[in-house]
Amino acid sequence: MATSNKCQSCGMPLKADPKGGGSNADGSLSHEYCSYCYVNGAFVNPDMNMEEMKALVVEKLRERGFPRFVASFFAGGLDRLKRWK
Ligand SMILES: [Zn+2]
Repeated sequence: MATSNKCQSCGMPLKADPKGGGSNADGSLSHEYCSYCYVNGAFVNPDMNMEEMKALVVEKLRERGFPRFVASFFAGGLDRLKRWK
């Protein structure tokens, strides 16, 4: 399996995660999900659907000063991520 360098839930590069990734149930570091999405082997927002995640990602990127078209382009890549297949 190829290791992915971005969160398979929100698309954030794991390099940008201050913790370097989420945590698995056994406390080890997750290399698939970031620490905002995945803690102790479970999704932080298990009921969230892809459209809600896209809206959240756009909001977060806008907060960081990214133009809307960049945020929308980035959010458009979410449907290729493992969580949303
Ligand atoms: Zn994430």
